[in-house]
Amino acid sequence: MGRAFRQPVLARIIEPTSKLDSPEHRVHRARVRQLRGIADSLEATLRQPCRSKAVRLPCTSVREPYLSPAPLPRTDHSDRVRCDPVPQPLSFPPLPNGLDYLESVVEHLRGEPNQRDLKYAILHLQAATEVLLKVRLMREHWALIFKNADQANLSTLSSGDFQSIGLKETISRLKGIAGVDLPTVHRNGFFRLADERNKLQHYGLDSGSQSIESLVGLVLDGLLCFIRDRLRPDAATHELAVLDETQELIQEELKRIDVLVQAIWDRITPELEKRDPVVFCPDCHQPALVLDDPLRCHFCEHVWTPEEAASAYASEILNVTWHDIAKGADPVCRLCPECGSETLVGPSPTRSSPHDDYWICFSCQQSPPYERLSECLKCGELMEMDDETGTVCQSCFDEAVYKD
Ligand SMILES: [Zn+2]
Ligand SMILES: [Zn+2]
Ligand SMILES: [Zn+2]
Repeated sequence: MGRAFRQPVLARIIEPTSKLDSPEHRVHRARVRQLRGIADSLEATLRQPCRSKAVRLPCTSVREPYLSPAPLPRTDHSDRVRCDPVPQPLSFPPLPNGLDYLESVVEHLRGEPNQRDLKYAILHLQAATEVLLKVRLMREHWALIFKNADQANLSTLSSGDFQSIGLKETISRLKGIAGVDLPTVHRNGFFRLADERNKLQHYGLDSGSQSIESLVGLVLDGLLCFIRDRLRPDAATHELAVLDETQELIQEELKRIDVLVQAIWDRITPELEKRDPVVFCPDCHQPALVLDDPLRCHFCEHVWTPEEAASAYASEILNVTWHDIAKGADPVCRLCPECGSETLVGPSPTRSSPHDDYWICFSCQQSPPYERLSECLKCGELMEMDDETGTVCQSCFDEAVYKD
């Protein structure tokens, strides 16, 4: 397809011209070079395996049954170019391979997953777990994923035809050698999922099992934490690109995966209960943005500057728009009487007091009750009512006193 459209275009552009050095001809030559570049990169892209249909290559033993070609995901990629189904060792290195499994899990879980979706979510989640944990272990040394270290060599590593360690040994080597100690709740989740995967392989899925769904949510959350805390730091530049791509996809789907939402809330609730004030996150709209330095949403992990948070909060959560302001509504972000930053918004409830109204300052993290602040009669800025200065703010009061 690329070639068919490319040739006539090139032919038209490189029409013979007698003035080879004319400005016109130089423009043509530049255009030809540019088109060739585009055509080359298009061809290179078309030659690449399509991520969704590619054979998922093992970084563990090729004898492992779940590493055989994965079933097609539900997403319709029929418009994409079909790829060569022949496995090409090392064209799918461990990290993209693990993340590909993870993307498949997300695709199977969104919306209302049926029994079949849940079955493949479990199989691929288990595969993603094993692969991604090993990616971290391989950063210490690639030979660590060999069951017998004395048989470790680069040619068997690249062919994938070797006996790899199992989940238990991976977790134990991560702790003992790499100093990576997984949170108990996630470690237990990984083991339980491995058991369920084995049962599933032989007996199929028990219908209507709610505990399986919450286990899937727990493991998915555990894996996302592992990627954030253990794989992202120290990742090479080319790894960061695939990590970003996956993270973007998962952030988009986050709210549509009920089991994951529940698992994240189970994890972050104890911490949020100790923190105050906590407000709605303008990004994910969950009540999980902690007023602290840095300003971070514990649900979606978005980190905000005070200015960004205040203006996003006003428009996304308080629904104040510039249109409203033009029609006489209060300005979006007010000057905070406490710290002097223009990052005060309100009226807003907080997580601990959902029925009361507060002012929220994203700079100094104060949240005075809404009625405690009033406008200075002279300059109109917000101020705290004060016995000494009365209904004018301190600076207007000082100004008046110095004048006299
Ligand atoms: Zn958020
Ligand atoms: Zn402030
Ligand atoms: Zn004033």
